[in-house]
Amino acid sequence: MLGLMQDWPLLCHRIIDHAAINYGQRPVISRSIEGPMHHTNYAEVRTRALRIAKRLERDGIKLGDRVATLAWNTWRHLESWYGILGIGAIYHTVNPRLFPEQIVWIINHAQDRMIMTDLTFVPLLEKIADKLPTIERTIVLTDGAHMPATTLRNAVPYEDWLAEADGDFAWKSFDENTAAGMCYTSGTTGHPKGVVYSHRSNVLHSFMALQSFRITSRDTTLPVVPLFHANAWGLVFTSPMIGGALVLPGARLDGASVYELLTEYKVTCSAAVPTIWLMLLQHLEKTGGRLPDLRQVLIGGSACPRAMIKTFQDKYGVDVIHGWGMTEMSPLGTTSDLKAEFASLQGEALLDVKQKQGHTQFGVEMKITDDAGRTLPWDGKTFGRLKVRGPAVAGAYYRDETDLLDEDGFFDTGDVATIDRHGYMQITDRSKDVIKSGGEWISSIDVENLAVGHPKVAEAAVIGVAHPKWAERPLLVVVLKEGQTATKEEMLGFLEGKIAKWWMPDDVVFVTAIPHTATGKIQKTTLREQFTDYVLPTAVAAE
Ligand code: ADP
Repeated sequence: MLGLMQDWPLLCHRIIDHAAINYGQRPVISRSIEGPMHHTNYAEVRTRALRIAKRLERDGIKLGDRVATLAWNTWRHLESWYGILGIGAIYHTVNPRLFPEQIVWIINHAQDRMIMTDLTFVPLLEKIADKLPTIERTIVLTDGAHMPATTLRNAVPYEDWLAEADGDFAWKSFDENTAAGMCYTSGTTGHPKGVVYSHRSNVLHSFMALQSFRITSRDTTLPVVPLFHANAWGLVFTSPMIGGALVLPGARLDGASVYELLTEYKVTCSAAVPTIWLMLLQHLEKTGGRLPDLRQVLIGGSACPRAMIKTFQDKYGVDVIHGWGMTEMSPLGTTSDLKAEFASLQGEALLDVKQKQGHTQFGVEMKITDDAGRTLPWDGKTFGRLKVRGPAVAGAYYRDETDLLDEDGFFDTGDVATIDRHGYMQITDRSKDVIKSGGEWISSIDVENLAVGHPKVAEAAVIGVAHPKWAERPLLVVVLKEGQTATKEEMLGFLEGKIAKWWMPDDVVFVTAIPHTATGKIQKTTLREQFTDYVLPTAVAAE
C-alpha cells in the first residue's frame, strides 16, 4: 500500500519562495567585487531570481542546460543560482583557483552553454575563450558602468542583461530528481570528476545540515567557504530555509577583511577551511581584536588542528564544529557536534572529542572496511577505508562509466579513518597520503595537528620520504610564524612523549610557504615532489 500524501517535489527554488514569504526582509549583505558593500534581502533575491529565470529562457537556456559560474560569494551569484534552478537548468560552479587547462577541461566536459563570471576572472576567461566552443555567451556579473572592454564572445554586463526581463514569471516544476547543480572535484589523480546534485539531494542536505550546524532565524551566517567549494557547504540553501541572514564575503578572504565583516555585521555563525581561520587568528593576535558576536564556526575541508579549536573556544568564546565531508557528499558527512554523553566534558577531554571529525547526521551512513571490503570494528583504534551511503551522496560521476559503489551501495571516500564506540569518526589520512613505515601506517594528520600546536608554528605538513630500511619515514615541513626562529631539536622535543616513538619525524625542514590546493588543502603531491630527492639523516645512517 502506498502512502496517500501529496506529491510535493523537493525543489531548490521552493526554498527562496519560503524565505521571501516568511523572512522577506532578512538581510543578504555582500562585499561587492567593485568594492562597496551591497544590501538586499530574501524578497528581493527572489524577485531578481525570477527575472533571471525569464531572461535565461529568452537566451534559449532550458531544462538540463548547464550554466557555468566563475564567481565569488555575492548576492549576484546567489540570485543567479536560484534563477538557474527555477527553470531546471543546472548551475555549474567552476573553481577559479584551478589551473586554466583544468578549467577548460571541466567546462568542455560539462558542455556549459553560458558562463556567468565576476570581473576578477574576465582576463582569465579571455585567455582560454577560444578553447571553449560550447559557451555561447558570457554574462559579466557587474553593471554597465563597470563593464570592461572585452574580447569575450557575446559578453554583456549582468545588470543590463537582467533589465531586459521583468519578474512576471512562474517557476517551472519538474521531478525532484532533476539535476540541480554540478561541481567537479579537484582530481589529484586523473581528470576532475563531475558530481551532479539533484534538487532532492540539495533540499535533503539542507535539512540534514541543520541537525549539527544549528542555525535559526536569529543567526547571521558568513559562508567564507565559496559556492564553488562544494555548494558553500549548503549554507545558501540552509540559511534562507530557516530565515537566517547572510553575509557574503566577495573576493576578499584575508584575515582583516573577514574580521571586518564578522564585527561590522554582528555575524553569529561562519564556515571555512582551516587556512582561512589561520589568517583570521593571526590577524586577531596582531591587532588584539575580539569576536563578541560570533557564536559558532564550522571548520572542515581539511583536519582542524586541536590548537585552533582551543584558541577559538578559550580565547574568543567561539564554539568550533569540526566537520568532515566532500564534494561527492554535498558535502556534509560528519560533525563533532557533542552527543549527550559528552555534554559535561571540559578541558583536554572535551578537545579529544571535538578534534575528531565526528558522527554522522541522519541521512548519512558510514562504515570502515579493510582492502577486501570486510567491515571493521568501531573501537577507535582499527583504521580502514571510510565508505558512505545516503540520499545526498554521489552514485556516479558525470559522463563516467566507473562503478563507484560497493555491493551494498557504499561510496569509497578515499579517506582512511577510525570510528569509536560512540560513532565518532576520525580521519587518519587520505589513503594516498598515509606514510607506510615498515609495513605500519603513520597518520600524517595526527603529527601535523600536534606540530601546529607549537606556539611558533604557523603551518605544518608531514610527508613520507623514501627510506632504505623502512620504505618511508616521516619528514616534518614547517612554516614558522612571522619573525620566529626555531631549531629541529626544539620541534622534535615538542612532539616527544605526545606520539608513539616510531611516529616521530626523522627530520624537520623549515620553509617559507607550503603549497595549497584550489580548495585550500595542503598539496601533499607537490610537497612530495619537492622533497622526492630528500635524503633523511636516518637514511644515511641506515645504509
Ligand atoms: P577537493 O578534493 O576538490 O578539495 P573536497 O573538498 O571534496 O574536494 O575534498 C574532500 C576531502 O577533504 C575528504 O575526502 C577529506 O580527505 C578531506 N577533508 C574534508 N574535511 C576534512 C576534515 N575535517 N578532516 C580531515 N580531512 C578532511
